[in-house]
Amino acid sequence: EHMDTGQASAGKTSAVPTENDRPLVELSHVEKHFGKLHVLKDINLKVNKGEVLVVVGPSGSGKSTMCRTINRLETIDSGTIRIDGQPLPQEGKELANLRAEVGMVFQQFNLFANKTILENVTLAPVKVRHMSKKDADDLGMDLLARVGVESQAAKMPSQLSGGQQQRVAIARALAMQPKIMLFDEPTSALDPEMVNEVLDVMMKLASEGMTMICVTHEMGFARKAADHVVFMADGRILEKGTPEQFFDHPQTDRAKDFLSKIL
Ligand code: ADP
Ligand code: MG
Repeated sequence: EHMDTGQASAGKTSAVPTENDRPLVELSHVEKHFGKLHVLKDINLKVNKGEVLVVVGPSGSGKSTMCRTINRLETIDSGTIRIDGQPLPQEGKELANLRAEVGMVFQQFNLFANKTILENVTLAPVKVRHMSKKDADDLGMDLLARVGVESQAAKMPSQLSGGQQQRVAIARALAMQPKIMLFDEPTSALDPEMVNEVLDVMMKLASEGMTMICVTHEMGFARKAADHVVFMADGRILEKGTPEQFFDHPQTDRAKDFLSKIL
């Protein structure tokens, strides 16, 4: 009755993580310099499947650089980054596959200006995932509907508002069926009246179980959506906690000072 030998030995060692308690993203002792500038200092982070991590901190603290290291838009000097247990590949097909698993939405929406809204969403699934045009169009329309801009599918990006463009950028990232979504200040370039329509889409994604890392200073969103909040300053993580712990009981002077300026 002990046919499943792999399982039996795994059970004995008991250190083998199951799918659910293995972090989807794990940074250990990550260090990064730009020349002499030390921008990431001993960064340690774990984000489990389905969790939302909000990253806050003053300008220049390394938040964007940290996000960019996670899909290897920036290399690191030392330490390790694992996505779903796998170390980040250096190059080639493996790197492209990894990038496809990590969706990213930036402050500037960066839609392709000379492609329609639908083409913006279907381009990568056709090129990278080798999806047929028909399947990609169906997927693209579903995703545009999910972010509430399906009626804009045939238009060009410049014909849409900033909030609509940012929702298209989210749909475009989702089209690759990523395991995790990174958001780097997705609402900071938007007119104030458009911020909520983007946060609502992010909130919906979070409630559907998407794993997310969000750099944002939208504190209402952070309180509602975040499982954990990380506070960075000068390239270091100074605080980690639940939204309540961080916003109501910050521990460091840097965090108290930061919060007094943004709340
Ligand atoms: P944040 O997103 O928290 O504002 P960044 O990660 O953008 O911080 O920047 C961290 C530090 O690294 C800043 O001092 C910034 O000027 C510097 N920096 C960012 N990108 C580069 C780069 N490509 N080359 C040199 N310095 C950079
Ligand atoms: Mg930034």
